Amino acid sequence: ESFSNMAACIFCRIIKGEIPCFKLFESEKTLAFLDIGPLSKGHALVIPKYHGAKLTDIPDDHLSEILPVAKKLVNATGAENYNILQNNGRAAHQEVDHVHFHMIPKPNEQEGLG
Ligand code: 5GP
Ligand code: ZN
Repeated sequence: ESFSNMAACIFCRIIKGEIPCFKLFESEKTLAFLDIGPLSKGHALVIPKYHGAKLTDIPDDHLSEILPVAKKLVNATGAENYNILQNNGRAAHQEVDHVHFHMIPKPNEQEGLG
């Protein structure tokens, strides 16, 4: 990814505070925030602050907190059923070219959507 792509990257702009988000967790290397188009109540995104489009573009030391943070979010929501998803490339339904892990709680049937 070129610098110009990075400057235009919506998640880099969220990291810099140029675009607001509902922040759930932040450390030196990692940010978690609510998805703007949630598939269920509590749908969150966990991202490395390091800019890269695909998983293979991110150095290992910028990935080490991702799953521990996803676990914190699962515990915070109390979700018993949930998906952790990470899409790479258009054909795999990736829309934002900055690596992100979805944490999507799945409500029980009785609880309905959201
Ligand atoms: P993808 O399809 O790339 O795996 O998922 C991108 C996700 O980013 C989508 O679920 C979309 O709702 C979310 N998203 C896109 N733009 C923004 C934004 O500006 N703020 C937040 N919080 N989420 C965003
Ligand atoms: Zn970025």
